[in-house]
Amino acid sequence: MARASKPRKAAPSAAEKPVKEPEKDTEPVINLPRSISVRQLAEMLDIDAISIIKQLMRNGIMANINQIVDYETAASIVTSLGYKPHLAPIKDQLMATAAEEGKRRKRKYGKDSENLILRPPVVTVMGHVDHGKTKLLDAIRKTNVVDSEAGGITQHIGAYQVTIDGQKITFLDTPGHEAFTAMRAHGANITDVTILVVAADDGVMPQTKEAINHARAAEVPIVVAINKIDKDNANPNLVKQQLTEAGLVIEEWGGNIVCVEVSAKEKKGIKELLESVLLVAEMEDLKANPNLPAAGIVIEAEMDKTMGPLATVLMQSGTLKEEDTVVVGTTWGRVRAMFNEARKRIKKAEPSMPVEILGLGSVPKVGDTLVAVADERHAQAILDRRRAELEQEALKRKTVNLDNLFDQISTGTVKELNVILKTDVQGSIEPIMTSLERLGTDEVKVRIIHSAAGEISESDVMLAAASNGLIIGFSVNASEGARRLAATTGIDIRFYNIIYTLIDDVDKALKGLLEPKYVEVIEGRADVRAVFSAGKGVKAAGVLVSEGKITRNVSVRVRRGKEILADSTVSSLKRFKDDAKEVATGYECGVGVKDFNDFKVGDVLEFYKMEKSGK
Ligand code: GDP
Repeated sequence: MARASKPRKAAPSAAEKPVKEPEKDTEPVINLPRSISVRQLAEMLDIDAISIIKQLMRNGIMANINQIVDYETAASIVTSLGYKPHLAPIKDQLMATAAEEGKRRKRKYGKDSENLILRPPVVTVMGHVDHGKTKLLDAIRKTNVVDSEAGGITQHIGAYQVTIDGQKITFLDTPGHEAFTAMRAHGANITDVTILVVAADDGVMPQTKEAINHARAAEVPIVVAINKIDKDNANPNLVKQQLTEAGLVIEEWGGNIVCVEVSAKEKKGIKELLESVLLVAEMEDLKANPNLPAAGIVIEAEMDKTMGPLATVLMQSGTLKEEDTVVVGTTWGRVRAMFNEARKRIKKAEPSMPVEILGLGSVPKVGDTLVAVADERHAQAILDRRRAELEQEALKRKTVNLDNLFDQISTGTVKELNVILKTDVQGSIEPIMTSLERLGTDEVKVRIIHSAAGEISESDVMLAAASNGLIIGFSVNASEGARRLAATTGIDIRFYNIIYTLIDDVDKALKGLLEPKYVEVIEGRADVRAVFSAGKGVKAAGVLVSEGKITRNVSVRVRRGKEILADSTVSSLKRFKDDAKEVATGYECGVGVKDFNDFKVGDVLEFYKMEKSGK
């Protein structure tokens, strides 16, 4: 999968080839107003203003970034960058500034142009483990293989297209909501429709609900596939009832959720499922302009020993062609060759098509965007700007947390507080959820995007990152992986044991009254292996440090299963007979806990510090 790569300025070997001039009839048109500032023009073209200033200097015009230039001057610049200038009608000029128009064009893939065509929907498959996601993706892939190709095809990339009734559908081949949300956390909301697989013999399970919430948070429509209907104990009606309880009311029962019964094993119902996907997609009105400069999103990337950097890109707009110069994330290159999922060489890639490309300078990251540009000079200008922006973003990137919530509400950054709620038991969810949702004000609404009983997982953190939300844990812990991910992504996890305090904190945060918060930082965990006497009726625990480290003067919790027996401080820490300052993972030591003597083999000690939340 993807590896982070250092930006590299040097051109890839293929870059020595002569630059291909963009064909006249495919030159993208840019609408320019009568006059425009250098800054606005740079924004519109997505390049550094300096490049424009330099170009103006070449034409004998000394300009600064705020300088207003006339249409003729702006037109000569955009022409030199491979665009076709067009004087925007006065009406349009009055409606929007040029910069806004540029942004709008980008957002809508040129919806203002007349060249929009329908593009295939991009589909992911989600659902509970073992409900048949992989098998279904397999069945769909095989349904499509033309007989002559059967057996000969091996899929090389993590996406494929099928054709049904003459229409194409693109499937992303990594099933599961973790992958789906990981892409969203990378900033890539590429799924148009999701298929929720529910096994007819097992029904709606925790991960089914999780998948529903992940799809909802992304506002992606769901098509339900009730799978394994070939099984004797299949009970599709029970599944439909459970789906209704989970908030998905199927059409047959008066709702709007399309539901198809399938057997991935016997390849039954696959065609109906695909037709339903097309039906739902049709309502989404998925269009793209194949005449714009190509743009796409990296869904996989790797370094191939013989071929060099390879990236699988899901095309979003425009048409990518061999020899096109592209900027991808913080690297660039010229497309030396393109392959489809069967590693067949192709000459062009249209919107929604997954394509593997060869010729980049280095391996990009998953979620990076690809854009085709006129030439190397333009590529470098975009790269310079992107790198500068990345540095800026890293400096100011702020996720929402209870401490900065009020500031974010005041500045209008946050209008909805997205909360992921994890509790010890199912019964706690409802009262907390209702109280939290009641706290909403005119400025900000509290929205519970996912709630479930159980430990806070990496998937929860990923969902929070993708939805700019925070996580509230009520009488639950977070897995080590989740804590680590939260620390790197800056996601706020709040732990509470008392409902009142939880509600009060969120209420105060919404009103901007919350005192600076001290948050718990777990330093280490240790398993109790033996219990021994430390004199005068005092007991100490012989432990093995399983995670992190133990230091003196920290807080410690004694856990037995789900129960917390003590929340106190470390009173003694010894290695053999000597006092120790610090004991690391994998070492044994003796630990005394203040005012606690009731250790048992199997207890877990959790060492933590309270630190001021620095966010
Ligand atoms: P995933 O974890 O959701 O990807 O599930 P898999 O695709 O790996 O399937 C889990 C198990 O269910 C495998 O043993 C499959 O062979 C089986 N399975 C999947 N679909 C069907 C089906 O339609 N009918 C039957 N009887 N078994 C199925």
